Amino acid sequence: MEHTPASTTHRRIGVFGGAFDPPHAAHITLVRSAMTNLKLDELHVVPTGHAWHKARPLSPAQHRLAMARLAFSDMPGVVVDARETQRTGPSYTIDTLRELHLQWPRAELFLMMGEDQARTLTSWRSWQEVLRLAIIYVADRGDWNRTMPRFIAPKLYESRFRRLQMPHMPVSATDIRARIASRQDLGDLVFESVARYIDHHHLYQTA
Ligand code: ATP
Repeated sequence: MEHTPASTTHRRIGVFGGAFDPPHAAHITLVRSAMTNLKLDELHVVPTGHAWHKARPLSPAQHRLAMARLAFSDMPGVVVDARETQRTGPSYTIDTLRELHLQWPRAELFLMMGEDQARTLTSWRSWQEVLRLAIIYVADRGDWNRTMPRFIAPKLYESRFRRLQMPHMPVSATDIRARIASRQDLGDLVFESVARYIDHHHLYQTA
């Protein structure tokens, strides 16, 4: 049988970056929706290393990676990709997209994000190149109101954006951390295994 180098096949690769501090139910739903709706061959969940855009310090990468593995690893086609936690300096999505593009020059890249991240995208490093390398799928967080307007794609780049269909889930890692700090029940906001990990490592004990 003739061997086809992997880099020549036309793969559909999803990329979903985030702090995952901790990974929660909306992250899982987003990944499931992307895998199904976009017919992806694989989806890379990429925990950020040093988040230049988050005001608070993140939990150590080793914990966020371990929780992401517990949350995502049994989903077919989903890989937890540690590359950003292994880089020094701030994590930039463009570096990850360039690496994937080098590895799979003919693949189509799809970058997933919630609406809050989409609103900030034009402040990201090399954002125009991000839009050249990937189609952006934006998930509603249902958080738009008078102070937080709906995301509108930049005029010249509208064709690079799509809406990711998924149910609105009013879940955030901020809320989960606050619940843990005040000893409230997490219900099904995180997987049981992730809740156990948080407990075992005493994460998020203080707000
Ligand atoms: P935090 O509350 O600490 O800011 P978060 O809940 O936004 O965290 P992140 O790990 O920062 O979680 O998010 C990773 C990605 O998942 C981002 O693109 C974010 O917009 C998206 N996301 C997070 N929560 C939701 C949600 N409820 N619905 C849709 N997308 C979401």
